[in-house]
Amino acid sequence: MSVSEAAGEALEVWIDQDLCTGDGICAQYAPEVFELDIDGLAYVKGDDDQLRTEAGATVPVPLPLISEVADSAKECPGECIHVRRVSDGTEVYGPGTE
Ligand code: SF4
Repeated sequence: MSVSEAAGEALEVWIDQDLCTGDGICAQYAPEVFELDIDGLAYVKGDDDQLRTEAGATVPVPLPLISEVADSAKECPGECIHVRRVSDGTEVYGPGTE
């Protein structure tokens, strides 16, 4: 899905910490959405700036950051960032969507 196509859709993102290598690429691309916790793994972050540490927790992808979040999912060496459409749960960026 191109970023312009995705712009019309509400998207959410989650990280599979079991596969995270802790390199921090996602947090460099989109520090508003991804952050490394003290355990060295990346977690998604809500607009309240709080990490969502429960397994499979999602946060909405802020519209202005779709491109950065999509790039994070593409570049993530652990292939563990999953971006999906809220309306039907279809994964639009992440492992297996290329
Ligand atoms: S880019 Fe992927 S592997 Fe690297 S810290 Fe972020 S979620 Fe973990």
